[in-house]
Amino acid sequence: MTIYVNRTLNMKQVKAIGFDMDHTLVRYKKKAFEQLTYDEMKKKLVKVHGYPAAVSKLEFDPEKTIRGLVIDKDNGNLIKISLHSRIKQAYHGLKELDYKEQMRLYKGHYVDLNDARYATIDTTFSVPYAVLYAQLVDLKDKNPQDNYPDYRKLEKQLLDALDMSHRDGSLKNEVRKDVSKFIVQDAETVEVLERLKKYEKKLWVITNSDYDYTKLLLDYTMTPFLKEHKHWSELFDIVVTSAMKPRFFTDNLKFLEIDPKTGLMKNTEGPFQHGLFQGGCATALEKDNGIAGEDILYLGDHIFGDILTLKKACNWRTALVVEELEEEVDNYKKASQFLTKIDDLMAKKTQVEIELDELYAKEFELKKKVDKKQVQEQFNLIKDIDLKLSKAIKEQQKLFNPYWGEVMRAGQEASRFAGQIEKYACIYMSKISDFKDYSPRTYFRPKKRTLPHEMD
Ligand SMILES: [Mg+2]
Repeated sequence: MTIYVNRTLNMKQVKAIGFDMDHTLVRYKKKAFEQLTYDEMKKKLVKVHGYPAAVSKLEFDPEKTIRGLVIDKDNGNLIKISLHSRIKQAYHGLKELDYKEQMRLYKGHYVDLNDARYATIDTTFSVPYAVLYAQLVDLKDKNPQDNYPDYRKLEKQLLDALDMSHRDGSLKNEVRKDVSKFIVQDAETVEVLERLKKYEKKLWVITNSDYDYTKLLLDYTMTPFLKEHKHWSELFDIVVTSAMKPRFFTDNLKFLEIDPKTGLMKNTEGPFQHGLFQGGCATALEKDNGIAGEDILYLGDHIFGDILTLKKACNWRTALVVEELEEEVDNYKKASQFLTKIDDLMAKKTQVEIELDELYAKEFELKKKVDKKQVQEQFNLIKDIDLKLSKAIKEQQKLFNPYWGEVMRAGQEASRFAGQIEKYACIYMSKISDFKDYSPRTYFRPKKRTLPHEMD
């Protein structure tokens, strides 16, 4: 797969590469892990928050949402917006809102994401959370006698259930019980890492997961595939666990050194060039390794937790792993026949509109009465083209998510999600092993983009 470039990145200059672990260095089996998260949230809503038993019977349908959507907590809605925050699609619970209803609720068609009533669906964890939110809204509307909390409180308690599943270790415990059910083993990733190492790049892992869990996943995904190293601790110069990102990038937090044999920790003053740690901060890594800012590339999967803060605070170069990308690119290829059809129909429509304007020009400029019959014929033509257009658009959208269409597009514009990637990631890809087709000395350069005035 291709690595996509937003901003020039010269790999020759990169001296250290830092990796987030979960969903970046280590891939999860998406379906199984989302199902697990969904089930845990349901359990907690019933057990801890006393929700009706009907909640336990809900079934996970991952297609009901995509990453990048926005939740309107006041109204119980899921919204898809463009990078300019313009609303393109909206659902109330599981019911699609038509244009009129959208107009009524969101005058002006824009949402202000600074408003606390909106929550964004940005992490991989947030997909089951958003699906369950839509289903709960639907359940509440259909069962007023069950006294569900209002839409806002539903969201709050759902988020609480999600946080609790992370905090109390219930998700991680399930992974621990059957690693192969949830975690992908990928020899190509290890191959890529060993190659980067050959080119004298320092490799760092910076994860918010604790040491036990980090060890579990690295033992399973790295060590069995190593060819030039014996153990993952030889491959990675530094492994920072429980890193508390994004604070890792901004605050001066203390490092603890972990004894790999016992897992016991002790205070340490560094230098932080090799080893296994808990906590710590980016500034100490930079200082002790004599590198800074642009010499370091960091790869993560979470725009807010991984990328945004470090870009602002440390000026490291950034790469984003977007797991939906592979499928999205495949679908674009399949959709090309419809895209040509849509372009042709749009060209036809524009031509008819020009002809219509010419008819009216006679009335306005020459004061000749316009021929009503001719005008009507043109309008009929437009109507006919519009019907064909909406059919072709629907066919094309069907190749993507059946409810929400593309992840990276909202109509003619980029989606908010795609906008974020463009803004914060220097390069992006669907998985780390996509580096295998590129030399570790590659000069990544963005393609020149055509501006509207250059297209004439
Ligand atoms: Mg992650």
